[in-house]
Amino acid sequence: RAKDSGRGRTCTFTPDMNRKVVERMRLLSRARLAFERGDFALHYQPQVTTADGRVRGFEALARWTDAELGPVSPDRFIPACEDSGLIVPLGLWVLETACTEAMAMAARGIGDVTMSVNMSAVQLAQHDFVPQVLDILARTGLPPHRLELEITESQMIGSLDAAIEKLKELRHAGIQIALDDFGTGYSSLTYLRTLPINTLKLDKAFIDDVHRRPDARNLVASIARIARDLSRTVVAEGVEDEGQWDALSQMGCELIQGYFVSRPLPAGRIDRFMAAWEVRRSSLPNVARADVVVG
Ligand code: C2E
Ligand code: MG
Ligand code: MG
Ligand code: MG
Repeated sequence: RAKDSGRGRTCTFTPDMNRKVVERMRLLSRARLAFERGDFALHYQPQVTTADGRVRGFEALARWTDAELGPVSPDRFIPACEDSGLIVPLGLWVLETACTEAMAMAARGIGDVTMSVNMSAVQLAQHDFVPQVLDILARTGLPPHRLELEITESQMIGSLDAAIEKLKELRHAGIQIALDDFGTGYSSLTYLRTLPINTLKLDKAFIDDVHRRPDARNLVASIARIARDLSRTVVAEGVEDEGQWDALSQMGCELIQGYFVSRPLPAGRIDRFMAAWEVRRSSLPNVARADVVVG
């Protein structure tokens, strides 16, 4: 590696490094082209309450299938777009599209739901990010409290104070803020207290064994309790089966997002999901229990 080779020594690209650089450049030029052509799309994944299975909202997730590269995961193209700056216009497009879709859903009777949108620290660092967000809300007509912006804690390293100021401005405007992927990377309970967030999204890594291993269960239960004490709402990400749902609802985790409820859906499939979920929701273990108590 270049770092290890010492001063005055030439740094040569290995064929492997070279291939990665070329791949990255190709990915970026295809992404630029796709953005210009309007080839990016959004899918929407529902979040539901454990208490009664009500749909609380949807998370907008970027999707891109390239003619040459095939489907490209956001885990690949988002970091590339962050490095190149393309994330700034792409992020504004995502925000505007998601807000527009939320308004379209409201017009079809799906009104009282939150639209969650991922935002990159690169976007947040733009000097005009806050006015841009407010402008999009004004243009689309989405009430601020129905928008939730998600930020990952590992991205908060660096200019933390500046980021906190902007998050506070967004909060004052009525926008909700979620801390995404909590528990991965540089997790710190300090963030939970100092960041102006409403919502804590527990990473899938915590959820995988929550119904199988007492240590995983205890950890999630403790975090959920701390979050409750700090008046933060907890969302469990990556819930894939009923055992996890049951464990999470028993430990007071308010919201569930994951394949168990639904995969991320194209906008055109949301109505069908809502109808199907209404039927399924009544047979969820704790919802059925609650019905027995009420009835
Ligand atoms: P994220 O924000 O943590 O989103 C959750 C990811 O988990 C999504 O992956 C979703 O499809 C996946 N997921 C949800 N439920 C389950 C489940 O039950 N099992 C499994 N195995 N996976 C589940 P996706 O869509 O591939 O997105 C990956 C990441 O890319 C996102 O993680 C987010 O950090 C980033 N991303 C996606 N869209 C955008 C965007 O528009 N802007 C920005 N800045 N980042 C985005
Ligand atoms: Mg997210
Ligand atoms: Mg996440
Ligand atoms: Mg993630």
